Amino acid sequence: MQFEKQYDVVVVGAGVAGVAAALEAGRAGLRVALVEKMILTGGLATAGLVNIYLPLCDGRGRQVTFGIAEELLHASTRYGPGTVPEDWRRSPVDGRTSRYQLTFSPAAFTLALDELLEEAGVALWLDTLACLPLLEGERMVGLAVENKSGRGLLRAACFVDATGDADLARRAGAECAPGESFTSIWAFQAAVAQAQRVAESGQGIELMDAIRLAYNGEWFDTAPERRRWDAADGKEVSHFVLETHRLVREYYRRAQAEEGEAGRDRLYPLQLPSMAQFRKTWRIVGQATLRDGQDGQRFEDSIGLVADWRRPGPVWEIPYGTLVPRGCDGLLAAGRCISSADDAWEVTRVIPAAALTGQVAGLAATLAVRAGTTPRQVPAEVIQAALQARGIPYHLRDL
Ligand SMILES: Cc1cc2nc3c(=O)[nH]c(=O)nc-3n(C[C@H](O)[C@H](O)[C@H](O)COP(=O)(O)OP(=O)(O)OC[C@H]3O[C@@H](n4cnc5c(N)ncnc54)[C@H](O)[C@@H]3O)c2cc1C
Repeated sequence: MQFEKQYDVVVVGAGVAGVAAALEAGRAGLRVALVEKMILTGGLATAGLVNIYLPLCDGRGRQVTFGIAEELLHASTRYGPGTVPEDWRRSPVDGRTSRYQLTFSPAAFTLALDELLEEAGVALWLDTLACLPLLEGERMVGLAVENKSGRGLLRAACFVDATGDADLARRAGAECAPGESFTSIWAFQAAVAQAQRVAESGQGIELMDAIRLAYNGEWFDTAPERRRWDAADGKEVSHFVLETHRLVREYYRRAQAEEGEAGRDRLYPLQLPSMAQFRKTWRIVGQATLRDGQDGQRFEDSIGLVADWRRPGPVWEIPYGTLVPRGCDGLLAAGRCISSADDAWEVTRVIPAAALTGQVAGLAATLAVRAGTTPRQVPAEVIQAALQARGIPYHLRDL
């Protein structure tokens, strides 16, 4: 090993979940490292160009998700466009019809996240690949990483897997389950016609002209060679990315031809996602698993609430057990790899839920470090008391 460092908490993956976890633990005064293999914070929401901050509300005028999830929604527009719908900016709250969500600029979001992490005193390890966990029995005590300095070891009392794919948990021997993603790609394009419309309207946000090609039961342009991906191995990632690039090529061949001779000049791809846009690859199998039909259900160990972004109405309590893996201690999961199955996974894999579970993972890690114990031993009631102190509701009846 070329270097060795000691922290209280090491968070792996600087997507929305990892950032929220690091902010929570960093603000509590702990020594926190946030390890990210790319050079941008924000994960799929920024490098992945997924720039819709899905709702914090239930679609019936009631906010259900609070805390860092709400703070990050506002931070996403600090250096760029995007506004909360008008009826969420005014009080009284009666008569809200829109959803509490917005579209943001990925680059602006990264700039704001960097700033927040710096203010929280988090040591950000960019361009650093988390490799192998170091275990003592079932307890994770260290993490081998690689970067320009070579290979090093980060030791910590507690770790958070916010890789999105449960990569850390799987390597640490925790029980995990596979998911499935469908073929799709979101990218940004430059379009002269769109720019002209923006010049007339002055709506700067429209400058981000996104193309969203997806096979989701319905293919908009052309049939993909393959529709389902389990992301089971490294080769699958290349295969998926190259297949989505092929579809983008087909799209522009046709779209540019329609623009005539100046086609390539008037309409062209501006930015492709720099991480694979998988939705669900692997997740932990936790002490608890959220399942279909459990919306509206009370869990005694609930640590927060999320809404169904697809339809108004359903709200889910998230049990703490969905963050706590089986088969490995000293480790928590956060974000799209928590223990949530089938349709419930659809609800918990998006940005607001990632931020919420990230914050709670950071909080539970902090409590574990302070008590000299592990996340498994932290009682849900202690987490709930800390959430209450932050004004974050965790049972439906408390809304
Ligand atoms: C095509 C698509 C469209 C979507 N649309 C929306 C939408 O409109 N709105 C919405 O809210 N959500 C949407 N989502 C889901 C949402 O973007 C993500 O699920 C959410 O951002 C997940 O955040 P996360 O922090 O859990 O994981 P991620 O954003 O995946 O972050 C994981 C981070 O971990 C890093 N990492 C992984 N392995 C390592 C390692 N070994 N070492 C170091 N770093 C590592 C990655 O580089 C990444 O930065 C969409 C997803 C996709 C794929």
